[in-house]
Amino acid sequence: MTEIDVARRIEELRATIREHNYRYYVLDEPSVSDAEYDALMRDLRALEVATPDLLSPDSPTQRVGAPLSSQFAKVRHPQPMLSLGNAFDEGDLRAWRERVLKLLGEDAQLAFVVEPKIDGLAIALTYRDGRLAIGATRGDGEVGEDVTANLRTVGGLPMMLREPQQRDEGRRMKDEEASSFILLPSSLPGLIEVRGEVYIRIADFEALNDGLAAAGEKVFANARNSAAGSLRQKDPALTAARPLRFFAYQVGPVEGVELTGQWQTLQYLRAIGFPVNRDARRFTDFEAVLAYCREWMARRDSLEYEADGIVVKIDDFAQQRELGVVGRDPRWAIAYKFPAREATTRLLNISVNVGRTGVVTPGAELEPVLIGGVTVRNASLHNADYIAERDIRVGDYVMVKRAGDVIPYVIGPILSRRDGSEQPWSFPERCPACDTPLERVEGEAAWRCPNFGICPAQLVRRVEHFVSRGALDIVGIGEKQAELFVGAGLIADVADLYALRAEQFAGMEGFGPKKIANLLAAIEESKARPLDRLLVGLGIRFVGSVAAQDLARHFGGLDAIIAAGQADLETIDGVGPVVAASVVDFFQHPENRALVEKLRAAGLTLTGGAPRERRGDGLAGKTFVLTGTLPTLTREQAAELIVAHGGKVSESVSKKTSYVVAGASAGSKLAKATQLGVQVLDEAGLLGLVGAAGAEGWGLGVGDPDAGGEEQEGGGQLGLDL
Ligand code: NAD
Repeated sequence: MTEIDVARRIEELRATIREHNYRYYVLDEPSVSDAEYDALMRDLRALEVATPDLLSPDSPTQRVGAPLSSQFAKVRHPQPMLSLGNAFDEGDLRAWRERVLKLLGEDAQLAFVVEPKIDGLAIALTYRDGRLAIGATRGDGEVGEDVTANLRTVGGLPMMLREPQQRDEGRRMKDEEASSFILLPSSLPGLIEVRGEVYIRIADFEALNDGLAAAGEKVFANARNSAAGSLRQKDPALTAARPLRFFAYQVGPVEGVELTGQWQTLQYLRAIGFPVNRDARRFTDFEAVLAYCREWMARRDSLEYEADGIVVKIDDFAQQRELGVVGRDPRWAIAYKFPAREATTRLLNISVNVGRTGVVTPGAELEPVLIGGVTVRNASLHNADYIAERDIRVGDYVMVKRAGDVIPYVIGPILSRRDGSEQPWSFPERCPACDTPLERVEGEAAWRCPNFGICPAQLVRRVEHFVSRGALDIVGIGEKQAELFVGAGLIADVADLYALRAEQFAGMEGFGPKKIANLLAAIEESKARPLDRLLVGLGIRFVGSVAAQDLARHFGGLDAIIAAGQADLETIDGVGPVVAASVVDFFQHPENRALVEKLRAAGLTLTGGAPRERRGDGLAGKTFVLTGTLPTLTREQAAELIVAHGGKVSESVSKKTSYVVAGASAGSKLAKATQLGVQVLDEAGLLGLVGAAGAEGWGLGVGDPDAGGEEQEGGGQLGLDL
């Protein structure tokens, strides 16, 4: 590039970034993902570093935020509100520490405070004589917007400060070094500016978007924009209706008390009434900082709020002052960014998939896009209403989210990127596999193909489910083979698997004599699986392995289960009215009864209850509800673990629930738990409880994610909240 080309490219990048800043900070409506924006910023920075004479103080690399909205009065910050420099790997973090040591001197004693980087919006709250006087957004860093009236509606944000008590002094928060007992000021300051993050929980964000979409309004692109958009409402009553929350993490000017370090400040902020994130830690050993960052990365998916990284800060304020600020970033802190979870891409097509119970689900075919190191080509669109309410069109640019094990899903269209070529989409009226007109059950979001028992697409899915690991566990049959057998007319229901003979495979590609022999042996062997596995395999709605074991143990045989009424079923521990009704309904259908007869004739085990393996009774008397996707355990495994230790697993949250175990994308059950004050655990918390209850370890490999008690149409491990 010539110098003129470079100058032109720099100007182009600045203009594009300014426009993105405006959309993001003023309109709360970005048109690109953070990852795309960050890439533009990186390009600009690189060019500016290479040509320092082209650097200008009004470049977006030198400023935070964007121009202010005229909706709010302006507030000048007494000290600028900065951004944070970024680290993308441990090497960057180590390099940051080296820079710090170079500036402070190699023998400087360092302590680090490590805090989650909550993805919301930064605000500054000024308290005079203990009362909230003014609250402002970060704005462009120098001048923010006065949102005091709206901030008064934010949960957990104190209007008046609390007098610190004697007993608040000391190590209230977890300090990795027992030696660092810290004295807190014993009085309130005459003036204090407290900085922190207003954010929204993931479950609340999703519920908010559902509500907006149902009302025909635009949805927010991500949790951070929804928090910002909710706080920056003209009418405080609208803000009040949004479940915003607050974490304090820093102070600006303070008068009347002396604060000497970040760790002490966090404890003092808590003592005077602010919510402070309990996951903050202090370390003097930098290796421990890195280890904690690693632990945090792994926990990210089980958080109830979005965290886009970890902030590492130098603890001591005197050292912070010495280090100072460069451009828009303090030298004494750094943000270790997690890989992005959202991306924008084009929706190329919407296809539909028929599940084993006939539910027809729409899926997005996307222009391949990298999210968190994985190429995403397909994403969930949930159901027909989801598409209609959000007006998602083929050809749209869409925001896609991929978090943990949950299948990626489309958040919504980016309306500002429409060019008129996008095509509205309507749900097919007929089943794509068997052409039967689709039906919609009153009050349900899903469309179904009613051609139960015949529709080849349903049959393929049922075969896949029947042979899966948590069910009849027939090795050698998967999706491909199921499609082949159904397509060739070899089987018309799952019982036909037991009638397969070697000669039927003659001439089929990939079926040599050895393979056929193994396959038939595996089918034969599956006849001896215990009753609970057959119950799972039948695919009765809501009957996963836990309920199946309860049923098998209680009744001892399939005939008794078929004969049982709703009331009999409900008396069983662990079987609620929903499961009971589903079992009754299943066996009322003549085709299901006929299937059972066919399976009986084929010689399957229809009796016997598998005694549950007991590992202890430390969880006796405790009831658990599982929601969302846990980082390592499937929901089945978590349930097994609880039951194996004497606990109970229930479907719905009530005051009687002892714990809710929540994973990523936990939904309404988590919200209910919070509302009722039920204790919420993540996976580590559950494992901790089991450990404390005297477990002698837990081997994974039990159950199959697809054999869950909940209907999991469309494959993958959905964090469904039924
Ligand atoms: P940043 O979000 O990367 O980091 C600074 C912010 O971190 C602070 O202002 C504060 O709000 C927050 N924070 C959370 N927890 C904290 C803690 N414990 N201690 C200190 N700070 C904490 O930087 P930024 O300048 O606010 O914004 C840049 C981000 O915004 C980037 O991720 C960028 O991708 C995104 N962005 C996106 C678009 C778009 O169009 N998609 C446009 C502009 C900015």
